[in-house]
Amino acid sequence: MAAAEKWTRTDGCGALRPANCGRTVTLMGWVQRRRDHGGLIFIDMRDRSGVVQVVFNPDAGDAFAVAESLRNEYVIAVKGTVTRRLEGMENPDLATGEIEVVAEELRVLNPSRTPPFPIYTGGPLKEVDETLRLRYRYLDMRRPEMQRNIILRHRAAKATRDFFDREGFIEVETPMLTRSTPEGARDFLVPSRVHPGEFFALPQSPQLFKQLLMVGGLERYFQLARCFRDEDLRADRQPEFTQIDVEMSFIDREDIIDTTERLMQAVFADTIGVEVTPPFPRLSYREAMARFGSDKPDIRFGLELVDVTEVFRDCQFKIFARTVASGGTIQGLNAPKGASFTRRELDELVEVAGTYGAKGLVWIVFEDGGIRSPIAKFLSETEIDALKTRLQVKMGDLVLLVADERQAALEILGQVRLFLGRKLDLIPKDKFSFLWVVDFPLFEWDEEEKRFVSVHHPFTSPLDEDLALLDTEPALARSKSYDLVLNGYELGGGSIRIHRREIQERIFKALGLTEAEAQDKFGFLLEAFEYGAPPHGGIALGFDRMVMLLAGQGSIRECIAFPKTQRATCPLTGAPGSVSPRQLEELSIRVAALPSGPEKPDAEG
Ligand code: ASP
Repeated sequence: MAAAEKWTRTDGCGALRPANCGRTVTLMGWVQRRRDHGGLIFIDMRDRSGVVQVVFNPDAGDAFAVAESLRNEYVIAVKGTVTRRLEGMENPDLATGEIEVVAEELRVLNPSRTPPFPIYTGGPLKEVDETLRLRYRYLDMRRPEMQRNIILRHRAAKATRDFFDREGFIEVETPMLTRSTPEGARDFLVPSRVHPGEFFALPQSPQLFKQLLMVGGLERYFQLARCFRDEDLRADRQPEFTQIDVEMSFIDREDIIDTTERLMQAVFADTIGVEVTPPFPRLSYREAMARFGSDKPDIRFGLELVDVTEVFRDCQFKIFARTVASGGTIQGLNAPKGASFTRRELDELVEVAGTYGAKGLVWIVFEDGGIRSPIAKFLSETEIDALKTRLQVKMGDLVLLVADERQAALEILGQVRLFLGRKLDLIPKDKFSFLWVVDFPLFEWDEEEKRFVSVHHPFTSPLDEDLALLDTEPALARSKSYDLVLNGYELGGGSIRIHRREIQERIFKALGLTEAEAQDKFGFLLEAFEYGAPPHGGIALGFDRMVMLLAGQGSIRECIAFPKTQRATCPLTGAPGSVSPRQLEELSIRVAALPSGPEKPDAEG
């Protein structure tokens, strides 16, 4: 038998329009849906470009017979003629809805088993378990929503690279097999076979390398860098992720901020056509905490916090008076029109505060004829009046109060604020509110380790005017670091670095590193600083998170082709998995007896 004639695809399914009518086309793609209707067979045929309706007439001979056997997700090739649909038969929901392809020939390129979940539902895919989706990611990925996200990710990467190229930045790859980098998370370790007992660490970020690139005279570096952090996962975290990593020489904070703002402008315009306008507002860390109870405030809505400590200095409600006396604070929030909350809704607010560690949340309803509150009987006229003024209370408002040590009270009420923002529908969905948070403290006290740790990382420069505090009151020293926040997400952060050996050594000392430890871990960096290191600084932006926000998704997993589950597993490949005794032996590794626990439920599908 002669070999079948080779067919070449001529068009994408989704690209056909009335202007193509009369043309014979060859399409290749998947069967999304088959409908048999009045002696005709209709196939919704899908490829990456979209969907088109293909019609088989009984007089199409063999093709009709084969079409009868088609099932969802079969891969087919069709030859046919683009034809205008009969009047009244157009489908305005489909880009190709004015035409259809009348099939003349059909080939089945590959049949398909029935997919474990529907690829096409005619609506959003809600009810399918995410683990199942990840187990069959290659099917999940056929859904237009996923394709849109993955293509958007590509566009964002391209816009990023184009922007930096225009600005004279060089993309440099930095090693994956390296030494531990100090971003404060746990490292993923890779055993060295050649050096038994020794380990590489996967980079938590290219931090040290990008600084060395500056010492190396590259001046402007960027990279779409893969990073690895062995942390407990949350909705917007993955053990491996991508960041837009940037470093520049001979610059100050304003240059990094300006470059990053223009990058955001370019990416948002090129990918989703949204105009964002620099300069973005700025808040000091202290002000962000004071007003929003967060170092990454969502400023799309108000509900700002107010310090009302002074109002309650002599309060009859003992918990308040005691908190103030012991140096704590009382933070308040006014939820306008909150008087309409039911008792259950008020209890829910107390619960929310509780999950963030509140010992209590006091509510006060302002209504006709006075106040309603569990602590009403302890409050004086003066206190109520003062509260009204401080929080600009109107009749029908609800005031919420948290008494605690300042930081804790702010953080708890900050979470209550976010909860209320969502509950009261105060957050505009289509808005992108960027914000810089600056002047972070250089150090924070780690109660477990009983020492200071870097808020950003140890290579961050202190503010010049705070340099002297390093030896006297390190807790008060502020840093030349900055975070970029978008809609309540920390999109990224960076800093102006230290480029002098003696200052870097003072920081290591303040962090409790001995000279020997500093030398062992970062000797190569300290040494590099002795060879004419230029002043430099940089930033890193979470690429996955940025794409998630561009795509309007709630989880970064929706914007990563093959993400891990919340339990850091890959249901598709079954990773992580065990390895053979021989592999372990080659690495001189013996696995200790494992605690017996539940088998990876994630891997089931
Ligand atoms: N290396 C830092 C991070 O990954 C960013 C920076 O300082 O540039 O968060």
